[in-house]
Amino acid sequence: MSKHPNPYGNIPDAELWSEAFARKQDEKDALSQLRSEFIIPTKGDLRNRRYGPLKKSTTEAAEADEDEESIYLCGNSLGLQPRRTREYVNRYLETWASKGVFGHFKELEDGLPPWLHLDDALKEQTAKLVGALPSEVVVMETLTANLHLLMSSFYKPTADRYKIIIEGKAFPSDHYAAQSQLAHHNIPLSALVTITPPSPSSPYLSTEHILSVISQHAATTALVLLPGIQFYSGQYFDIELITRHCHSLGLVVGWDLAHAVGNVPVKLHDWNVDFAAWCNYKYMNAGPGVIGGLFVHDHHGKVEDAQPPTEDGTHANHTGDATHDNDTKLIYRPRLSGWWGSDKNSRFRMENKFVPIPGASGFQLSNPSALDMTSVLASLDVFAKTDIESLRQRSLRLTAYLEERLLRYEGGPPPYKIITPMKPSERGAQLSVLLNPGLLDHILEYIEEHGVVVDERKPDVLRIAPAPLYNSFWDLHRFIVHFHEACKKAVTLAPITRKHHIDEPVVTANVVA
Ligand SMILES: *Cc1c(COP(=O)(O)O)cnc(C)c1O
Repeated sequence: MSKHPNPYGNIPDAELWSEAFARKQDEKDALSQLRSEFIIPTKGDLRNRRYGPLKKSTTEAAEADEDEESIYLCGNSLGLQPRRTREYVNRYLETWASKGVFGHFKELEDGLPPWLHLDDALKEQTAKLVGALPSEVVVMETLTANLHLLMSSFYKPTADRYKIIIEGKAFPSDHYAAQSQLAHHNIPLSALVTITPPSPSSPYLSTEHILSVISQHAATTALVLLPGIQFYSGQYFDIELITRHCHSLGLVVGWDLAHAVGNVPVKLHDWNVDFAAWCNYKYMNAGPGVIGGLFVHDHHGKVEDAQPPTEDGTHANHTGDATHDNDTKLIYRPRLSGWWGSDKNSRFRMENKFVPIPGASGFQLSNPSALDMTSVLASLDVFAKTDIESLRQRSLRLTAYLEERLLRYEGGPPPYKIITPMKPSERGAQLSVLLNPGLLDHILEYIEEHGVVVDERKPDVLRIAPAPLYNSFWDLHRFIVHFHEACKKAVTLAPITRKHHIDEPVVTANVVA
């Protein structure tokens, strides 16, 4: 028995493998209804070479197949479209068409908040998702841009402390961002420390290992930047413990929550996270490349009047390395600024006096896209139908079911292994599957033909992500049926010519005639 018994572990094969079992799990779960909030593309829609939904087919059999919902398990890459998004965006378009510039301020009886206040309208709901105070979050810019903006404020290298610690398989954009921050400060690229797995056979990074690398470099490090959930392996890091460890060593730590937000409940405020950033198009479902979000802890977002020293000689503010603006006598954390980060009441006076909005909003630069924010609002209104803790409970069940089905391969050892941690607390919705070499293309071809959408990472990894808002047990059942059929076909087809990219002896392909 493993240390983390799967809740589906004791169900007999015949029952677990049945469609009826999957259907029953969906019926039992009230949150299954949230699927109807989304447009699930049909198999025909995906095959269609025109952008809209598919027109009806001629034969009945073809029609039945084409009308069946696709098996979309790729919400970690691009979330599906909520039905209400179109309605909200139409309202935005109508407001623009009928009100012009007044759309910025005019309170409408039936519309969305005026564009000028859309950022505030998003705060409350975003804050709930990431465990923050509303003042600690803002929807702005995009993920990589936000990482740069945050690093410009939080990465303050000195002669002694200048290194940036990231993980070895960091998402390329995060890697480039950290690298270019070093270059920007004229620091050699050797100052980029990467945490790599101790064993070449697995991408797993134990918390002890992460802490020990951080400790080892602490005396010369200025910033730690880590993902909440690792995009490739799906590993969910212990944000609270790692943050506490960094702070005990005097280090600032930032978190990239691209794969965590809308997926797992995080408590950024209580965990004392310094800063974080994310995008809103993966588990957040607000559309490709849509405006992102960021978090700056209350400690770091303060804007205070410069006070004369108090009687005991200390200053009344807590912002460590704050700046002092002689004009306005304000003390706040230095940052790269723009007009949208300045106080709303004086923003339009054009007096060239930057008065940062306290909290995360003070990090804004530009007038944000109202179209983008409208789309984010639609997505958040879907999340508002439940709460992230309940969603996580559903997600744990879906992922456990997927895992158990993957582990039970009919007729021998499977030609793949799961590289995502087995422990539920160490993963979100995604399971990454490392296929035996040479199988990926055959398998993808087969499952795509059958309406399955998953993410591939060449040469051998499939990432399968049941998004708890819209994926069902029935989706996972259909996925497994097609995937296992594809595996059985692929092992008879694929000559195993390449060496595995992770040098562990993998389970031998099941090439029975
Ligand atoms: C998706 C993702 C990105 C993408 O960044 P954009 O700036 O939105 O293009 C960056 N980092 C991580 C870890 C991601 O998962």
